[in-house]
Amino acid sequence: MKTIFSFVCFFFAVSLQAQTVVADSTFVNLKEYSQDFVLDMKYATTDNFLKAKVYECEACYLRFKTIKALVEANNDFIRKGYRIKIFDCYRPLDVQKKMWKIVPDANYVANPARGSIHNRGGAVDITLVDETGTALDMGTSFDFFGPESGHDFKEFAKPILKNRKLLKKIMLRNGFESFDSEWWHYNLEGAKKDKLSNFNWQCN
Ligand SMILES: [Zn+2]
Repeated sequence: MKTIFSFVCFFFAVSLQAQTVVADSTFVNLKEYSQDFVLDMKYATTDNFLKAKVYECEACYLRFKTIKALVEANNDFIRKGYRIKIFDCYRPLDVQKKMWKIVPDANYVANPARGSIHNRGGAVDITLVDETGTALDMGTSFDFFGPESGHDFKEFAKPILKNRKLLKKIMLRNGFESFDSEWWHYNLEGAKKDKLSNFNWQCN
């Protein structure tokens, strides 16, 4: 009995420690928490509107609370036969400044003077893939800067509107907010209050 009691105490202590070690505001690497996402980090390649590789390597860093909500959302999608494909997560403020120089339009790029939720570790740029890994048709590519990227644009075929609706519905259900002019961008609720950041993650 005593052994069982010690065993239970041990587990209680370990789980308590696990809960207290990582604060909600701590930046963490998604891959430490889930392997169920498809990563296609566009800014770690030259395949983006900057035409420049602005991240040294591919990684999805976010505040822990954002990671938790994102994993929950992905679990919902997995139950429906889909998975989240990620284009961007946390983005250092210096990268935001580069983007603003190229596209100084707040509909598509946040002004670095105020900062983006990406700079706060609370925003993700995502789409969905099916069980074969094929991306669902969302009507435009990621970072297409035009009205067609907006949630209000309804002149698409029904399957496209349905795909966007599915993405939005599950993300909103898991604590995220959509962004009117970009179907791919989601902010964790309340993330605006978090501080801007400019650290660069380690590449091994
Ligand atoms: Zn975004």
